[in-house]
Amino acid sequence: MSKKYTIAVIPGDGIGPEVTSAAVEVLQAACAQRDIEIEINELTAGGAAIDKFGIPLPQETIDKAKASDAVLLGAVGGPKWDNVEPEKRPEKALLGLRQGLGLYANIRPAVVYSELMDASPLKKPGNIDLVIVRELTGGIYFGKNGVYQSGDKLPDGTTKGKIAFDTESYSEGEINRILKIAFELSMKRRKKLTLVDKANVLVSSRLWRNLASQMSFDYPEVELECLYVDNCAMQLISRPSSFDVIVTSNIFGDILSDEAGQIVGSVGMLPSASIGAPRTPGMFEPIHGSAPDLAGRDVANPLASILSAAMMMRTMFGEEEVAASIELAVKKALATGARTSDITFIGEGEHITPIGTRAMTKTVIENL
Ligand code: NAD
Repeated sequence: MSKKYTIAVIPGDGIGPEVTSAAVEVLQAACAQRDIEIEINELTAGGAAIDKFGIPLPQETIDKAKASDAVLLGAVGGPKWDNVEPEKRPEKALLGLRQGLGLYANIRPAVVYSELMDASPLKKPGNIDLVIVRELTGGIYFGKNGVYQSGDKLPDGTTKGKIAFDTESYSEGEINRILKIAFELSMKRRKKLTLVDKANVLVSSRLWRNLASQMSFDYPEVELECLYVDNCAMQLISRPSSFDVIVTSNIFGDILSDEAGQIVGSVGMLPSASIGAPRTPGMFEPIHGSAPDLAGRDVANPLASILSAAMMMRTMFGEEEVAASIELAVKKALATGARTSDITFIGEGEHITPIGTRAMTKTVIENL
């Protein structure tokens, strides 16, 4: 074997173990065809870690994830752990992993497969193929927040009724590093970048806009468009296929990436990547959760997880051939009519019998 990558696999909870094991099978098969060895290091996090160690993210998981080349995550959480104290909830594992690995950029492609056009709630979705690059560790979710009780003295010396506040703040460094990822990604795609902000109202957005304009001089081939977030929310519905790469802040990206996910159909089809500084392991995962309603029944759609593995090979290792072969195999599997129940859209007079997680995985492997 000429090349070897060590992948930390964190199956997590619910359907997490089923979909990650599907992704690993496909990855191993695609890599074996190209003489690439994949070493799997299985780690525990989320509810599974609470059950085993009493905490959602053991230090060993962070250390071993850091020592790997990339991380493949299933999903964490479920009703079993809904009543544990907030600091020990399974979801804390996600934040801990992002922090521990220094992952500051979330990348979510949204693609409409021609075979699944009916999945979109839009009448004429067109050829949607866009990527949202969301800042992940700054902005209002991490800014100063608090509550002034009724009668408390405010910083300006006045007193009012009860006040709660959150703060949106970004440094030049935080913005530039995510803009760079977005410009670089645009260069590899259709060379069109949309910055989404609220620069007509927010001072922090004006800094994003200034820095994006400055950086665009380094990427003269990339067409930079700036949109206010409310306008972008509309345009994603009215002209989704005109977008290529969208870059935005944490909160705007959180909202827009769910919108983009919905216009292309099932969450069972959508992969994502969280990446940090060069040469640090990125984390790849489906955008869906642990779907406790489907767990252990061999009915979950494994394609989002399989496509996350493809994204990992391309983004982390530049293994374009492996990534493209997995993506093509998914397309071919869909073209043969293979459908898990979430993507069985039955038109008039049609009847498609859904297949299970394992059968879908097998079909993808057969089409590699
Ligand atoms: P969910 O994504 O798990 O499920 C939403 C709906 O989509 C459900 O109807 C589910 O059956 C369906 N679905 C999800 N994945 C599917 C797949 N691969 N194939 C077919 N159908 C699929 O979201 P939820 O119900 O809001 O959350 C369930 C649990 O997952 C919660 O504990 C939540 O906190 C957790 N969660 C974890 C992550 C993560 O680990 N990244 C993300 C979101 C939610």
